[in-house]
Amino acid sequence: MSRLSIRGVGRTFPGVNRGAPTLALQPTDLEVADNDFITILGPSGCGKSTLLRIVAGLDTPTQGEVRLDREPVRGPGAERGMVFQSYTLFPWLTVRENICFGLREKGMAPAQQAEIAARFIAEVGLLGFEGHYPKQLSGGMQQRVALARALANDPKILLLDEPFGALDNQTRALMQELLLSIWELHRKTVLFVTHDVDEAIFMANRCVVFSARPGRIKNELAIDLAYPRHYTVKTTPRFSELKAVVTEDIRAESLKTAQMER
Ligand code: ADP
Repeated sequence: MSRLSIRGVGRTFPGVNRGAPTLALQPTDLEVADNDFITILGPSGCGKSTLLRIVAGLDTPTQGEVRLDREPVRGPGAERGMVFQSYTLFPWLTVRENICFGLREKGMAPAQQAEIAARFIAEVGLLGFEGHYPKQLSGGMQQRVALARALANDPKILLLDEPFGALDNQTRALMQELLLSIWELHRKTVLFVTHDVDEAIFMANRCVVFSARPGRIKNELAIDLAYPRHYTVKTTPRFSELKAVVTEDIRAESLKTAQMER
């Protein structure tokens, strides 16, 4: 049974000042099984974020339907944990308070909140930073807090939109490994949007490649690399083969985007 069911989901944005509407996403179908780690890869502007925002309940599709455990998605909910590229922590709250935010909203007892926060602070490697404010942290550390905050709510699915896109390459690689180790430990279901081919292959068990705008699923690849994955997998022949297939797909789509923009 699918954990998440995306059926015929499409989105058209109305035109501004009587301009033509923008077809951002063609009707799209995607079935996400429990424990899947799916990466959505595509050129800029192909509708990846639009689809993720619809799954998060932050936007409404013009057609189709999203169901999580058979329940239609009609708005945001704690059972879907979201991490964005931009740093979205509350600047006036400490690391611990940011992580506890959703738990406090749920009315959880403070002792239980503290216990959960301590567990995830340790898991994302932030011991000793509990009392720091976001501005006192590096970008990578802020994204660790965002991840811990999302996980603390024990969501059914994690939705990540280019969460490591603003980080330098070294930090980004470490964050990928951290997320993978957390996924391997908790076996969460993950939907991860990226435009980075290596990132998409390294973490996923399935990689979905989007076409140029208006986006649709162009190709779907099973990433048959064994877990647990170590960063050295990136230098194996199988990784290179998968990368060649995906790079070819994505290059063709990026060229179409470039031609449309000329
Ligand atoms: P991606 O995440 O793949 O880069 P997006 O989903 O952000 O792409 O955007 C897809 C298309 O929809 C783009 O052409 C973008 O300009 C358009 N779009 C996104 N959000 C809106 C909006 N709120 N209003 C109008 N157009 C939008």
